[in-house]
Amino acid sequence: NVQRAAGDRLPRYVRVNTLKTTVEDVVDYFKRDGLSYQGQAARLDDFTLKEAEFARDQHLPEVLVFSPKTDFHDHFLYKAGHIILQDKASCLPAYLLNPPPGRHIIDACAAPGNKTSHLAAIMKNKGKLFAFDLDAKRLATMSTLLLRAGVTCQQLANQDFLKVDPDSAQYKDVEYVLLDPSCSGSGMVCLRDNTSADQEKDQARLASLASFQLRCLNHGLRFPRLKRLVYSTCSIHRQENEDVITACLQQNPGFRLVPLLAQWPERGLEPLTQCLRAGTTTTRTHGFFVALLEKHIEAENMKQ
Ligand code: SAM
Repeated sequence: NVQRAAGDRLPRYVRVNTLKTTVEDVVDYFKRDGLSYQGQAARLDDFTLKEAEFARDQHLPEVLVFSPKTDFHDHFLYKAGHIILQDKASCLPAYLLNPPPGRHIIDACAAPGNKTSHLAAIMKNKGKLFAFDLDAKRLATMSTLLLRAGVTCQQLANQDFLKVDPDSAQYKDVEYVLLDPSCSGSGMVCLRDNTSADQEKDQARLASLASFQLRCLNHGLRFPRLKRLVYSTCSIHRQENEDVITACLQQNPGFRLVPLLAQWPERGLEPLTQCLRAGTTTTRTHGFFVALLEKHIEAENMKQ
């Protein structure tokens, strides 16, 4: 299977959990373990690492890059919660949302919680992190992972995000939302199955996912003190990405897109070039999409 082969060739990424350790300490640990540190990557070619080599990512300061066959599931640093095994692209949403410590944040579709623990690390465990998920089993896994990662600022709820009341007093200070809703997963190269393409069924599924994603987005923008919302999917389909954002901006003129990382190599499809895309050839990650929406102050003033 061609897709699986492509997945096997992707580097392995590790996010250093700054709630428990530092990048320097983790680098030292791996060096003492016998791995050879190549410094910070500067180009895509620097991601072609040999078996015992590792490097620091050039875009995300807390991400380390290893060769494709590396497996840290049994490693002490993973079991102790010092490192999180997370694809580089999936580290983008929390990094770009960048909520300051002490604020109130929502992670709308949170389980199994890799982005939640990343948000907590950025917030230094200070503030409140409301995390919702519909799936009780995934939420239970998430509790274990957050405990291991030393996250303490979370409030988990087994709840449909679409039924969370934005006007409830407990969410009155929410300023940041991370929305990573269910999607087709078409960016996950190891999951892509292009042999049984039932086109019509796929189209219906995409349309239904896109409508759910748009409802979640519109709902996320309804929190009264919201400043920024980051939207992400591991889909490569325009229908779940740029099309959802375009429809949302049309329905919410008080919000606009924030231009993201000028140095990032793959942009959202025209005209949404403020957004980021990721993929096997451009960023050596799984396929991914990120958009950051912010409240447009002038539109706010116009209403008053
Ligand atoms: N953000 C997670 C992470 O980084 O670990 C991955 C989230 S996954 C892409 C989407 C999640 O949305 C699933 O766990 C699913 O159970 C949850 N979900 C689907 N519909 C939902 C809804 N209406 N409200 C809350 N969660 C929902």
